[in-house]
Amino acid sequence: MFLPTTRDEVNRLGWDDIDVILITGDSYIDSPYVGVAVIGKVLLNAGFRVGIIAQPYVTSNRDIGRLGQPRLFWGVTGGCIDSMVANRTATGRKRKRDDFTPGGANNRRPDRAVIVYSNLIRSHFKGARPIVLGGIEASLRRIAHYDFWSDKIRRSILFDAKADYLLYGMADRAVIELAACIKEGRKPQDIRGLCYMSREIPKDCLELPSFQESAKDKDAFTRMFHTFYHHNDPVTASPLAQKQDTRYLIQNPPARYLSAPELDAVHELGYERDLHPFYRLHGDVKALETIRFSIATHRGCYGECNFCAIAVHEGRTVRWRTRRSILAEARQIASHPLFKGTIQDVGGPTANMYGFECSRKEEDGCCPKKRCLFPDVCASLKIDHGKQISLLRELRAIQGVRKVVVASGIRHDMVLADKKNGTRYLREVVRHHVSGQMKIAPEHSEERVLEKMGKPGRDVLLTFKDLFYRLTKKEGRKQFLTYYMIAAHPGCTDNDMARLRSFALKELRTLPEQVQVFTPAPSTYSTLMYWTERDPFTGKPCFVEKTFRGRERQKRILRGIRPKPFKPAVRGAGTTS
Ligand code: SF4
Ligand code: SF4
Repeated sequence: MFLPTTRDEVNRLGWDDIDVILITGDSYIDSPYVGVAVIGKVLLNAGFRVGIIAQPYVTSNRDIGRLGQPRLFWGVTGGCIDSMVANRTATGRKRKRDDFTPGGANNRRPDRAVIVYSNLIRSHFKGARPIVLGGIEASLRRIAHYDFWSDKIRRSILFDAKADYLLYGMADRAVIELAACIKEGRKPQDIRGLCYMSREIPKDCLELPSFQESAKDKDAFTRMFHTFYHHNDPVTASPLAQKQDTRYLIQNPPARYLSAPELDAVHELGYERDLHPFYRLHGDVKALETIRFSIATHRGCYGECNFCAIAVHEGRTVRWRTRRSILAEARQIASHPLFKGTIQDVGGPTANMYGFECSRKEEDGCCPKKRCLFPDVCASLKIDHGKQISLLRELRAIQGVRKVVVASGIRHDMVLADKKNGTRYLREVVRHHVSGQMKIAPEHSEERVLEKMGKPGRDVLLTFKDLFYRLTKKEGRKQFLTYYMIAAHPGCTDNDMARLRSFALKELRTLPEQVQVFTPAPSTYSTLMYWTERDPFTGKPCFVEKTFRGRERQKRILRGIRPKPFKPAVRGAGTTS
């Protein structure tokens, strides 16, 4: 069922009140890929009555008031993407399109949506129930963070939104505990995955450099970020405290990860795989095309690419669903009236991390001073694509399924590191799971830049490329690799982009079309480099292209396009230059 979004639907359910109202910056797609739908369904399954208001108008109470006040709390999220990233390009321009808005025009999600929606609630409900923040925007802005769009360090969003609690990470376990606490009138301060404000520092908390100190001293900010980053593992993390004004932000250790049966249960909550009819009246939502018939098999990633926030949000330990649950979902998809035979994706943050993990993580957590894949694949990570091969075979055999696509990114270094099943896996992918082109994300060719990104070197890429084309030829197929690249990452100069262009033309025999200008999104190591202009691991200075013109130029160098006269983005929207 859909969560109700209008008073009529609430009445039809026979509810006289609602326990939790969720507000989101996306339209309401009921899908296991959409965090707010998952949180709503998880709460509903635990016996709470949940309503949802998507993309409310922020200039009146027309939307925010339509379900009244919740009995327990308001849950606020900016949506699946940080609202600043969703609304602005890396060069500061307003984006015209929004894949999570009906009709596609980017006209319904305010900048800093979490703060705007929290203010909206308070302005229309005197004595509002507690406001609980969640989702990626809140999660990655939970402590002092660099904000690219205002070019400064901002406080925890919990303080800026003047909310009561913040649930970080996936939150599907923590949100039930919080709802139960509020319902029973208990204090929620011990819930894992929770941030809250306090006048004092609780016992056993590690104190981070304060917001004020971090904002004015880049070394303090770097120390703060290292400590924050290393206290994100549920097995080893300590609670953290950071002074924001006269009060402290307290971050409890992360929630314990869901077990496979628990993760299965989250995915088996009867999602509609559709846009709620109330929002469908305003047009189609593009995101639905890619997620409606896709299957998420796991969570988390130990790739730790420095520009990616997944480690801080989902964690560095991969948890996966059982085969049974995934196959059951595929059968449901196959019987869906709109299904045409293609499962659009089977994967997770990284497609080929399904079904194995390093044995030390469960007991001891992730290594504090070592990475699983960088600079080389750790010998303790026994990479084995065997389970994924079997899973893909079983998915293909389901009646009504003609094609199963692996569209999530494949870590090519992991394929090569799996001496037993890596080539077999790639052969299966080449034979059955690629739609003409396979996307991989080497991101660059120059070792100095790759090292700043935490990505594998060019030799690994070239070896993988040869293997892919050898297997493709053997299969008698016409398909090719497409490469995702990043321009203007910290450490990257115009010359590096020119060298990347030569490398692509000579070695890859193509010019990558997927080139992104690096966006310093909150709470990543690359963003730390961008702000401090230092390598946080060595302390050495690091070149950073900071002007909009220069960042755009780096992209154009790779594409071989002459620089065009630059029209600066409108200032005042929180842009840098
Ligand atoms: S491999 Fe992908 S999901 Fe994992 S950290 Fe790197 S970019 Fe993020
Ligand atoms: S031993 Fe290796 S694979 Fe295991 S957590 Fe440490 S770095 Fe990762």
